[in-house]
Amino acid sequence: MSNAVISVERKLFTVALVGNPNCGKTSVFNGLVGGRAHVGNYPGVTVEKRSAKVKREGIEIEFVDLPGCYSLSAATLDERITRKFILFNKPDLVINVLDAGNLERNLFLTTQVMEMGARLVVNLNMWDEAEKQGIHIDESKISAKTGAPVAKTVGHKGIGVRDLLNLVTRLLKEQVSGHHVPRITYGREIDQEIAEIASRVAQTSCNTLPPRWYAVNLLEDSVNLNDFAHPTPEEHSLIMSQVVVAKNRISQYLKTDSESAVNEKRFQYIEELIRSSVTGEQSDRMKFSNKLDSLLTHRFLGYPIFLFFMWLIFQATYVIGQYPADWIGQGVSLLQGWMTAILPAGWVTSLVADGMIGGMGSVLVFLPNIMILYLGIAFMEDTGYMSRAAFMMDRFTRVLGLNGKSFIPLLMGFGCNVPAIMATRTLESNRDRILSVLLIPFMSCSARLSVYVLFCGAFFPNNAGNVIFSLYLLGILVAVGLGYILKDSLFKQIATPFFMEFPPYRKPTFKTGLLHMWERARVYLKKIGGVILIASIVIWFLGNYPKVESYSQNYPAQIEQLQKSDLPGAHQQVVQLERKMAVEDIEHSFIGRFGSMIGPTLDPLGFNWQMGIALVTGFVAKEVVVSTLGVLYQLGEDVDENSSSLINAIASPSNGITPLAAFAFLVFVLLYTPCVSVIAVMRREIGAKWTWFGVVLQFVIPWIAACCIFQGGRLFGLG
Ligand code: GDP
Ligand code: MG
Repeated sequence: MSNAVISVERKLFTVALVGNPNCGKTSVFNGLVGGRAHVGNYPGVTVEKRSAKVKREGIEIEFVDLPGCYSLSAATLDERITRKFILFNKPDLVINVLDAGNLERNLFLTTQVMEMGARLVVNLNMWDEAEKQGIHIDESKISAKTGAPVAKTVGHKGIGVRDLLNLVTRLLKEQVSGHHVPRITYGREIDQEIAEIASRVAQTSCNTLPPRWYAVNLLEDSVNLNDFAHPTPEEHSLIMSQVVVAKNRISQYLKTDSESAVNEKRFQYIEELIRSSVTGEQSDRMKFSNKLDSLLTHRFLGYPIFLFFMWLIFQATYVIGQYPADWIGQGVSLLQGWMTAILPAGWVTSLVADGMIGGMGSVLVFLPNIMILYLGIAFMEDTGYMSRAAFMMDRFTRVLGLNGKSFIPLLMGFGCNVPAIMATRTLESNRDRILSVLLIPFMSCSARLSVYVLFCGAFFPNNAGNVIFSLYLLGILVAVGLGYILKDSLFKQIATPFFMEFPPYRKPTFKTGLLHMWERARVYLKKIGGVILIASIVIWFLGNYPKVESYSQNYPAQIEQLQKSDLPGAHQQVVQLERKMAVEDIEHSFIGRFGSMIGPTLDPLGFNWQMGIALVTGFVAKEVVVSTLGVLYQLGEDVDENSSSLINAIASPSNGITPLAAFAFLVFVLLYTPCVSVIAVMRREIGAKWTWFGVVLQFVIPWIAACCIFQGGRLFGLG
């Protein structure tokens, strides 16, 4: 039977659509079949392949919309689905949908499809975008070089789709044989090795696969090849012995491993193709963007670069933030002094100056730090760096059995855990969502930063930036460790594959940066005026009542006597007596009683009772840890004596907090429940059962960690 006869007899043809995620495949598919499959502009919408049939000019064409992927050689599920479909189902035609505004990145997949020997139509979609960017593409050049007919479309508007359909119909009705697929040459050395491997492959049962494609994939160490090929052990060793020889020779000639060598040649091919067919100002910019991508997502350099940016942000957060923070602190003490001066002495004054202003002021101080942190995060988002970071992190999140996309909610957790938990909605698999939601609370949110800044100022003033950075890292490590454990115990399943379009690099504008900062500042100020104010008043009350009926000594009388006398040192004695009195006051108060109740559980961690109370109230929100300490340490203190700021009060040796205990405390604050809102949102997103599980973890882990640090540190003589 000749080919011509076949084409007359055959009635049903299969046409597959392949392309990068978000290149508009589904839009084109809908246009072709007149359907309404879900179109989305975030990655991962098309997870399973989808198909529909169209009758035209006496033949029936089944179009198949395959999941988007960037390449066909890695391990992701979608790449496997797409690759398998092309190799096994052998579609009569493959439409490679390309984002014309992003040709360079999109063509990588094209080179791989070409390798498979599939009959190809190149579809330059998003033509409007390319025009808008000032990119001119000469289709005839692309056609000449790839050997594939080219069709231009604007998928979401259906422009050009009819022409594409006509083209496809015509191609299918034409003789099937004789289409010509030019090979990509990998250079003389590699091509020779490919030929030798291919000839071995041809001698085995794997010869049903395109031999050249199989050979290249072996050289590339492409994974999951056993989806397709099932060589017997003898065949396997016959082929692999040749692969090993080839790899050695390639690394000898080209001084690089065969995978890189093959990819380099692919990029070279793409570069030549682009150079011959694309003109316009933007191509330079794309080149720059791609160069920047290859640096920022470099498989080794990418990580130190990322860490450096993070480190820089935390340094700036602390160092630059300190100046305005100091001014606010001074303003708050002035206001307190002023209030005490104009209001008559008594409980109202104490409530206003110590309770309300003290509590709110101690939190307000950290507003600048938090605004700078947010500016940093906004900067990462706006420049387009964030999704590159997510791409890089895919390698690590994969270890946790998570998609790299989970990294963005996790990173957002540095700002505030609540929106971060809501952001997990963009993840496709339920399992990824639950696991991410459980891990996010260990990402140190900006509210915790206020506690860090306070304690670092008191105990590690010279190393504050580094200590803070280390806390953030520790949070990440704990999340990683936990993810690793949960992955194998509770969530046995492989991670969903990663796909995400890199947004173009953009210069961050000052305006959006300020907007983010202001947005954040507003939320923070609202919190201060709301929950923190209320908590401060409640804590003031619980710390002041019930009043002591009789002190162990008659302090007021002693103080009065001393104040009358002119003895040297009388003033110091007064201060000391006042302190003792304040301690008895607090010990007698509700808070003091509660503190001594929970004390035993905190003894192994080296925390004093004020810290214990602060942890309890901090359950409401992490800033409340600071405001609680602010109220507790200012109660009974003579404000107009201008004795000390909160930092000095905490660092004062009379408190008995060692730097080691302080660090253990910070670790505890880092790891325990961020706030009640987080619990509420967790419940909404992942249900009560998982929330309980998460909350238990959020108590057990910090306790163990703080205990290890404090007791371990003491063993090494650090405490
Ligand atoms: P897929 O992930 O490849 O299936 O892409 P979709 O078909 O889901 O489209 C992704 C986004 O790109 C959607 O918001 C579409 O409306 C949009 N889109 C599709 N084709 C074009 C096009 O030709 N030009 C422009 N500007 N947008 C398009
Ligand atoms: Mg789609």
